Amino acid sequence: MGRRMKTYVRRYTTVRAVRWYKLGDCPEIEPLGPDGPDPDEVCAWCSRPYNDHGWCKDDHDTVCPGDWIVEEKGADGPRIRVMGDGLFRRTFKPVEDGE
Ligand SMILES: [Zn+2]
Repeated sequence: MGRRMKTYVRRYTTVRAVRWYKLGDCPEIEPLGPDGPDPDEVCAWCSRPYNDHGWCKDDHDTVCPGDWIVEEKGADGPRIRVMGDGLFRRTFKPVEDGE
């Protein structure tokens, strides 16, 4: 007989987030570098040219207009990640009177 799973709750349940639409919206997001995709090429996720996109170096991910930039408090410090609107809304809800 194996060991039974127990229930745990995450220690850090709140995040700070901002929805990103264009360069300048959020200091954590940089322009796509020269190693990135062709700026005139169209993104398969959002159908907009890569020229409208950003780069999140923390998450090593391209940022589409409308994506959320999420700052998670982890056990070893804050971490920035990129999340699409659908997943963000399924995962988080706003905290009223949040800071
Ligand atoms: Zn895109």
